Amino acid sequence: PIGIAADRTMCSLPRQAARSPDAGSHKYNRGMLLVRAGPMAGAAALAAAAGLRAGAGYAVLSGADEAPFAAIIAEDGASYAARLDDKRLGAVVIGPGYPASDALGRDVAAAIAAGKPLVLDAAAIDVALPRLDGTPAILTPHEGEFARAFSDLAGNKIERARAAAERVGAVMIYKGADTIIAAPDGRVVAAWPGSPWLATAGTGDVLAGACGAMLASGGDAFDAAVAAVGWHIDAARRIGPGLVADDLIRD
Ligand code: AMP
Ligand code: MG
Repeated sequence: PIGIAADRTMCSLPRQAARSPDAGSHKYNRGMLLVRAGPMAGAAALAAAAGLRAGAGYAVLSGADEAPFAAIIAEDGASYAARLDDKRLGAVVIGPGYPASDALGRDVAAAIAAGKPLVLDAAAIDVALPRLDGTPAILTPHEGEFARAFSDLAGNKIERARAAAERVGAVMIYKGADTIIAAPDGRVVAAWPGSPWLATAGTGDVLAGACGAMLASGGDAFDAAVAAVGWHIDAARRIGPGLVADDLIRD
């Protein structure tokens, strides 16, 4: 459990649906998402599928030859640089299923250089930290990943999430049973209660993809992060007992 900050920032999130399209929507302006896969391509595939479910209009899964939905464009890694260059591209997700390696370092550096809004998960967080420098980004560490990247920060979970967001200049989704979402300007939301059924493999990858969807259509990264966490928890509550991560993308 988290400590409650003096300014009483604890709250529960409203029901959060996928981003709604309107009459002016088309697949590109609803958000074009690029998910870069690593060796465990299934995790990236979950992220790409979650991106579509959470309201992105278009999803490309780079570096994988299979995707859970026919609507996802799975393609080999060679086109990654060209995809990053696409003016319509709204956000890049990298980290799910992609352990630390030279390849991850190169792929993260290329994404940062492209200047697109980023969702960074797992090992991609450590790789990106020294290079972010103002790139709009959402970072999604769980407890272990947060401790590794921000071992010097003290205080309760809200205080540490805020300090990390301020240091990095990016939005932090510090995950767990109590998920803290913090922006560099001090805004913070504690998502509580979540659904303990989310404590299962692949749900973090789904959240990363939802963040990508919410970020890809433009707008504030903190609002996108709050919406993605709300969508994720709401979907988990609807599914309930026996949830596996795949259910979140079929829902
Ligand atoms: P990861 O650790 O990357 O697999 O992500 C797991 C996801 O499930 C995150 O969104 C967590 O916030 C959520 N989660 C994990 N454990 C719990 C729990 N005990 N109660 C509620 N949510 C959880
Ligand atoms: Mg994870």
